[in-house]
Amino acid sequence: MDFDKASTYCFLNGEYTTWDKAKLHPINQGLHYGSCVFEGERAYNGKIFKTTKHSERLIASAKSLDFDIPYSVQEIDAIKQDIVAKNGFTDCYIRAFAWVGDDAVGLMTKDSKVGFGVFAFPWESYFSDDIKGLRFCMADWQRPDPKTAPYSAKAAGLYMICSISKNNATRAGYDDALMLDYRGYIAEATAANIFFYMNDGKLHTPKPDCFLNGITRQTIIDIAKREGLDVIERHIELDELKNVKECFVTGSAAEVAPVSEIDGHVFAPDEICKKFMTLYAQEVRK
Ligand code: PMP
Repeated sequence: MDFDKASTYCFLNGEYTTWDKAKLHPINQGLHYGSCVFEGERAYNGKIFKTTKHSERLIASAKSLDFDIPYSVQEIDAIKQDIVAKNGFTDCYIRAFAWVGDDAVGLMTKDSKVGFGVFAFPWESYFSDDIKGLRFCMADWQRPDPKTAPYSAKAAGLYMICSISKNNATRAGYDDALMLDYRGYIAEATAANIFFYMNDGKLHTPKPDCFLNGITRQTIIDIAKREGLDVIERHIELDELKNVKECFVTGSAAEVAPVSEIDGHVFAPDEICKKFMTLYAQEVRK
């Protein structure tokens, strides 16, 4: 089936509809105040990878923003799978999202209506899947202190600093930016977690204590352990980049994407990047 945006099926506020008919109310507090959460996931051969984990995280993200999604994990899983099937997609990207407040302007949302939607579209690759690797500069913004934002939620508001950083990086000719955290430790890319294969022959990755502990990140850690590779989750300083042999980023959209440069430190994506790209591609199609 050809991808025709207008007639592509989506789900919005209790019904299956199409992109050209889907409408949101301008009094949408998700837009005004960032009271919105979402998931990004992929289907492979028609089946959504770790769909239940994503639905659970969506519900948990909403809870941490003080609202409840009026659907169960099983119902969300079924709606997402329906959207993939109704559109005849086999490999695609799926967005489920929920926001609070179509019924009043104001910050008190505890009695407001909760909206929910799902859409999907074919999306080949977030980054090019080239083994050449991505070039990163440093982001101008840092992942915030957990006391200033619900960091473990996949919440729209947490993305404003990611968007600005990504814009600045691409404007300067880079593919993405590396974000430090509020303490100055290496955190993540603007929409993906990061891994370093270091001189000690181990895989190191920042401890997710102020940014999203990605589902892909957790999958990669499981794969690495299964492969007998030591994975160390810890605080990583910027000057440790000199000890890095290979680097890659991970995410549902990004999948496993090699990195060849961060802030002037150059790495050559090689066996480790290739291995994790291959093993992840096998894992999602199991
Ligand atoms: N960090 C951020 C900021 C992200 O947007 C994403 C993509 N959802 C990730 C990490 C990776 O998360 P996941 O592997 O669950 O997609």
